[in-house]
Amino acid sequence: MITHTSSPSKIELRHVTHLYVTSRNAFMAVKDISLTVKEGEFISLVGPSGCGKTTLLSLIAGLEKATRGNVLLDGEEVSGTSRKVGYMLQHDYLFGWRTIEENIYIGLEVQGTRSKETEEYALHLLEDMDLLSFRNSFPQQLSGGMRQRVALVRTLACKPDILLLDEPFSALDHQTKLKLEDLIIETLRRHKKTAVLVTHDLQEAVAMGDRVFVLDRTPGTIRREIEIPEVLRRLLPFGTRQQDGFTTLYNQVWREMEGTSDGATSN
Ligand code: ADP
Ligand code: MG
Repeated sequence: MITHTSSPSKIELRHVTHLYVTSRNAFMAVKDISLTVKEGEFISLVGPSGCGKTTLLSLIAGLEKATRGNVLLDGEEVSGTSRKVGYMLQHDYLFGWRTIEENIYIGLEVQGTRSKETEEYALHLLEDMDLLSFRNSFPQQLSGGMRQRVALVRTLACKPDILLLDEPFSALDHQTKLKLEDLIIETLRRHKKTAVLVTHDLQEAVAMGDRVFVLDRTPGTIRREIEIPEVLRRLLPFGTRQQDGFTTLYNQVWREMEGTSDGATSN
């Protein structure tokens, strides 16, 4: 019998290069990116605007096919979108004409898996997010932070193993964002999800991530990988921010960002 000593990678990018091709030209968005994410790990991607962060998420989600190289989930090549992957964006995309309860079933409907059982699971997640009493409300009656929590419930209701988060907190006020960071990490740990966060907030990248990848641009490449020490990793993001080592790591990420070709002008 073969025993596997190390768990296989949940996500693996092998020498991934991606070009966007139009009728007039081809633009290389990312070049020769290799990285692996283990099951249950949370990684953060930061880098100047246009360095290919969203492109990497699209490749993992199977929305784009890599021009060169391989993208694997659980050791299998990605071919189109998969139920394994949940994607959450900056904008919550809730339907204003549907109640919160009906909104959290949208993903299940798209998947064709809406049933009494999956509805119950979604409602249970809504309760976890402290929003069950709002099930009959409409999105416009909720604050931005509450709406993002609903969007998270809708994504998690489909039971993805992997969660892709593209600047999900950038439209929120600071305090709401800090609370939501903790809530998300807590929820992901409890459900043993693997996650990739794209953010332009370097503190958030360090507070939430187990590892932070700093990307450089044109074409997008990995400039530096920074591992967050275990003592900081096991805390929730708000707690991590209070630790002594936090500022040092943040400064390290900041310096790397300053060194990117976009440097201080990036946002
Ligand atoms: P980021 O998310 O880091 O800001 P993106 O992945 O969105 O970067 O984009 C990387 C580069 O690829 C940018 O220069 C962008 O203009 C280009 N790009 C992104 N999507 C497309 C597309 N669909 N067609 C052509 N170029 C694109
Ligand atoms: Mg982007």
